[in-house]
Amino acid sequence: PLSLLRDPSLLKTDGLIDGQWVTGGGRFDVHDPATGRKLADVANLGPQDAEAAIAAADRAWPAWRTKTAKERSILLRKWYDLLMAHQDDLGRIMTAEQGKPLPEAKGEVAYGASFVEWFAEEAKRINGETLPQFDNNRRLLVLRQPIGVCAAITPWNFPLAMITRKVAPALAAGCPVVIKPAELTPLTALAAAELALRAGIPPGVLNVITADAAQSVAVGKVLCASDVVRHLSFTGSTEVGRILMAQCAPTVKKLSLELGGNAPFIVFDDADLDSAVEGAFASKYRNAGQTCVCSNRFYVQDGIYDAFVEKFAAKVRTARVGNGFEDGVNQGPLIEPAAIEKVQRHVDDAVAKGARVLVGGRRLAQLGSGQFFEPTVVADATADMLCAREETFGPFAPIFRFQTEQDAIDAANATEFGLASYFYSRDVGRIFRVSEALEYGMVGINVGILATEHVPFGGVKQSGLGREGSHHGIDDYVEIKYLCVGDI
Ligand code: ADP
Repeated sequence: PLSLLRDPSLLKTDGLIDGQWVTGGGRFDVHDPATGRKLADVANLGPQDAEAAIAAADRAWPAWRTKTAKERSILLRKWYDLLMAHQDDLGRIMTAEQGKPLPEAKGEVAYGASFVEWFAEEAKRINGETLPQFDNNRRLLVLRQPIGVCAAITPWNFPLAMITRKVAPALAAGCPVVIKPAELTPLTALAAAELALRAGIPPGVLNVITADAAQSVAVGKVLCASDVVRHLSFTGSTEVGRILMAQCAPTVKKLSLELGGNAPFIVFDDADLDSAVEGAFASKYRNAGQTCVCSNRFYVQDGIYDAFVEKFAAKVRTARVGNGFEDGVNQGPLIEPAAIEKVQRHVDDAVAKGARVLVGGRRLAQLGSGQFFEPTVVADATADMLCAREETFGPFAPIFRFQTEQDAIDAANATEFGLASYFYSRDVGRIFRVSEALEYGMVGINVGILATEHVPFGGVKQSGLGREGSHHGIDDYVEIKYLCVGDI
């Protein structure tokens, strides 16, 4: 699939330190999850390279932070224009290494690029404050200054957007970055970095350390332990988030964490049934269920339960599973064998505890790499099932029945996670009551998709710290400095 790129020079396989492509000692393979075929071998960089990238970023910092906001804005805008100009190629690279259907991949390119556009604009609005004085011979000011060298460790499910959502606000604020992309999807990250160079982002301002799973752990330790790195942003599992948080404690590093979710999707009796079915499908089956905001648990009220289950199952039966490069496919492969095993474990556990399979339930072993799972729906799910507690991160929709509004709220909140939540209701009082009662960072009401660049994305409880996107997305990359000027 990569031989069809319009601009083959976007296919980079080395890391990027101080504006130079770095081959490294070893290499690691990147595979196409749809076919299992090797796509490329990529530089397997390690702790010394991470140190070099941090040093390069530190050297680049003074000149980057003293550029005017408008100068940084113009460079970011050029990067955005190049990302969009190469949307097709970036989409192809993404589908090849990540598996999501090509139209969805191109959609992510536009979504990922939109953060660069947004923060190019926000770069010009990092305003300070003047405060009323408490004494007439003083003046009180607040500056917002770049925090310093930033590190970003990113996941494979959004190979571009999870990078730009962190890197664009950092660069806008005047901070250089060291990126450690997911080992399963480094090619999209490197192509984006190549376009950043073409846009004129100076050497050392944006560095990429590619590494396999083992070296990623070692590189992560260096990024966390460094005194020069003042901020770490991570998107990935809660488990790894906890490790990184502990590793950042000795240097009291500022952290942005976007971790696991366990999103509830509640359908009340007064919901618009067709709209709820559409929203449920969009929310569950985007990226074959591999997003942290995908609905994990469907709670449907008794009065509408049978109708919803029937319509939703019919909708899921229309899903087309296959290689993401094939026309009409809307369900690609899962990222790796472990992902398939987890979905199967959740489905089997639900069935063993009394759930009724309506659609799917099995792995499609005869298709491509064998990493495809049938879009699956079960009814009669109960709270003792694994799928009630753990994030499945795959194409499995368990449907639970509930009676009262309070029951739904209690069930939805009975988790240590608090990222996205969704509910369908036409009752204006209920919309406010339930929105306020849900312990989540984001609530979708009568919608199944809610992310965009100018809204604050993030979670509460063990789903993370901080918000990405929107004007709040700059906050983690600036420090507030109070100036008290006397003798006026
Ligand atoms: P996922 O559940 O999305 O696979 P992970 O949390 O395992 O997420 O991985 C997300 C990112 O974190 C990847 O870039 C991966 O290489 C990196 N990573 C995983 N474990 C560690 C670790 N112990 N230290 C640093 N980075 C890690």
